[in-house]
Amino acid sequence: VNPVYAAMATTIFEEMSGLARETGAINLGQGFPDSIGPEELLRAAADAVLAGPNQYPPSAGMPVLRAAVADYYRRFQSLDIAAGDVLVTSGATEAIAASLLAVISPGDEVILIEPMYDAYRPLVERAGGVARAVTLRPPEWRLPIDGLAAAIGPRTRAIVLNNPNNPTGRVFAHDELAALAALCVAHDLVVISDEVWEAVVFDHAAHVPMIALPGMADRAVKIGSAGKIFGLTGWKVGFVVAGPRLLQPISRAHQFLTFTTPPNLQIAVAHGLGLDDAFFSDSRAALERSRDHLATRLAAAGFTVLPSQGTYFLTVDLAASGVSGDDTTLARRMPHEAGVASIPLSSFYMNPAPAGLIRLCFAKPDEMLDEAAARLGKWL
Ligand code: GLN
Repeated sequence: VNPVYAAMATTIFEEMSGLARETGAINLGQGFPDSIGPEELLRAAADAVLAGPNQYPPSAGMPVLRAAVADYYRRFQSLDIAAGDVLVTSGATEAIAASLLAVISPGDEVILIEPMYDAYRPLVERAGGVARAVTLRPPEWRLPIDGLAAAIGPRTRAIVLNNPNNPTGRVFAHDELAALAALCVAHDLVVISDEVWEAVVFDHAAHVPMIALPGMADRAVKIGSAGKIFGLTGWKVGFVVAGPRLLQPISRAHQFLTFTTPPNLQIAVAHGLGLDDAFFSDSRAALERSRDHLATRLAAAGFTVLPSQGTYFLTVDLAASGVSGDDTTLARRMPHEAGVASIPLSSFYMNPAPAGLIRLCFAKPDEMLDEAAARLGKWL
């Protein structure tokens, strides 16, 4: 067996959801909304299951969905793309895996920006790459352009960017991203740009797609997720947008990972992407209210909460709130002691993480957030 996987622990998401189930704790760990999903999409999927098709769709995705993704990005991000620039995958994690397999040759270095989503490093390493971590610093979590420049060496092939960022909730600004783009052009690097949270940004922050920046049209791989756009995380419908130089090898890699994605879900997502603007702004506004709700309740209970501009998550600084200890140990104790499950930020680092930061998911009903904050307040 491969020693990397033999030695690897179960993901923190699975571990914390398991602990929440065992203890009956409120699960603010793994990021998923506490809802069945938007009615419009559920009906479209059910109709498409009954009417078919239920056989293999084309490997690159159903034409109706590829066209709908292009229309959606034209409408919301002013991207000048066509259906042929889109590949449908079985979730964004598959898109990231296919992109790394397509871009990395054994021994190539890939820069990861930590805290980072836990899938990146094992996928880089399994593709034969060497992961190099560059660290964001709280509470601003700004892109460390000098640190990134210093990490680039002769074997560096790619940078994985996650914007908006999980777990920090940071939405990187245009100037930071433009500096990153300039670095990539200067050093001939590819950016694998995980933009799954692009539709979940708050306070009128604008999501800047990497692929739209100067010099990036043929250098950025844009990855999106219907699971995050519609709060249907179990559907596992993702997409890649890239120019032909990158999209063609990524599509080849995808052929041998999942080959394709359930056709009925593709049809339902295509329908969803065509809903009117109000659907998308209402979803975003509801999540923004939930963020504010949890942040306010936690602050009132005595916690130090870091700002979050997007995603389903906010970060609580337990150390600054007067709780000492290692974040992973605390997160493992909390379901038992406080009745709330969270995710420790250490799981998103290769280097040692700042002390005592945990991530909480606020994509939940107010009553659940109230109860979680009350329980945490008693535990504090
Ligand atoms: N994206 C989800 C999160 O960050 C986790 C997905 C998973 O469990 N693999 O919480």
